[in-house]
This record gives sequence, structure tokens and C-alpha cells, in this order.
Amino acid sequence: NKQNVEQLAWQKMDNLLPCIVQDAATGKVLMQGYMNIEAIEHTLESRHVTFFSRSKQRLWTKGETSGHTLDLVELSADCDKDAILALAHPNGPTCHMGTETCWADAKTPAISFIAELEQVIASRKGASPESSYTAHLYSQGIKRIAQKVGEEGVETALAATVKDLEELKNESADLLYHLLVLLQASELSLSDVIEVLRARHTK
Ligand code: AMP
Ligand code: ZN
Ligand code: ZN
Ligand code: ZN
Repeated sequence: NKQNVEQLAWQKMDNLLPCIVQDAATGKVLMQGYMNIEAIEHTLESRHVTFFSRSKQRLWTKGETSGHTLDLVELSADCDKDAILALAHPNGPTCHMGTETCWADAKTPAISFIAELEQVIASRKGASPESSYTAHLYSQGIKRIAQKVGEEGVETALAATVKDLEELKNESADLLYHLLVLLQASELSLSDVIEVLRARHTK
């Protein structure tokens, strides 16, 4: 709210605070820009991440010409209120160089990679069964996918039992992949499962 915005450490930063944009689905850092009070207000009202452009010397809604906007999920301030985090869903590549993020060469964190894999798996839903293994699995139906998860679960358990660590890694990968497909086929996502874990954790 307005009071929270005024309590940010503006005087420390010449009325501009850095804002880091993070992909709400994958956790990837997408870009960094600067915000003044008007940029924050515009972002909260329009739900599109808006910065104060130092080169243009005006409010700049990311994607205003490219269409590659950032749909706001949440804005939050850091511990000492001198930096802003924007969680957002990107519409297209965020970097004007055409890459998903402005840190195109940075290695994707492990957990983000799972989220990316899930997006690829979800995108195979309409595809023809010949074009990809995932599409082929969808076409076989939930029962067959569930059976695969069962098999991979047993193979994972066996590998652990005989202490074959290479096999345990491979079978765990198979299990995770097929579980992601099963969730998608059931119109659920990994984040639905993570919410269950999160709720248990805080108890
Ligand atoms: P856009 O906001 O995507 O319509 O892009 C308009 C202009 O803003 C581009 O031509 C760049 O000069 C600049 N720009 C766009 N995206 C970024 C970014 N991620 N980081 C820095 N500058 C950007
Ligand atoms: Zn800080
Ligand atoms: Zn960039
Ligand atoms: Zn296997």
C-alpha cells in the first residue's frame, strides 16, 4: 500500500530503487531496472512491471513496444527497504537481445530446471504422438502413464537397495520425469504438490 511505498529507503537512493524481476514459475532472474514511486504505483495499478528508465527519463512499461510484458504477481521490498523484488509471469523473452533472461549465460539453478522441464512437458499436450515421447505418453492415457510411474518407482527402489548409485540417479530421473507427465495428464502441476509439502512444513 501507499504507506509501505513511502517507507522505502528513497532518500538513500536518490528516489530510484533497483528492482529485480524474477519469473514466478521458474524462479529465474529475468532482468533488473529502477523504480521510483510512480513506477511502483503504475506497476500495482496496471499489473504490468513498469520502471523509471534513466536513459528515457520517463516511466517505461517493460514490453511497451516489443509486447514482451511482465505480468505482475507480487512486489516486495528487501530487509532494509532499499531494493525491490518483482515476481512476474513473462510474455515472451524478457531481454531485448531476444533471450529469456538478461543473464542468458548464467547456469539455471537445479529447481528452476525442473520447472522449465515441466513447462516443456506441458507444451507437448497438443503435439502429435509421433513427434515426441511425451506426446506419445499422453496419447496412451492416464492408466499407462500411472503404470510407468509405478515401474520407475520400483526400479528406483531396487537401485537404492542394491546400492547402485548410477542406476539410482538414472531411475530417479525416470521417476521424476514420468511423475511430471502423470501430474500434467491429471491437470495438476508440480507446484500443486509443492503447496502440499509447504503446508506440512509450517505445521
Ligand atoms: P520493450 O520494453 O520490450 O518494448 O523494449 C523497449 C526498449 O527498452 C528496448 O529497445 C531496449 O532499449 C529497452 N529494453 C527492453 N528490454 C530490456 C531489458 N531487459 N533490459 C534493458 N533494457 C531493455
Ligand atoms: Zn537492502
Ligand atoms: Zn537484457
Ligand atoms: Zn527406469
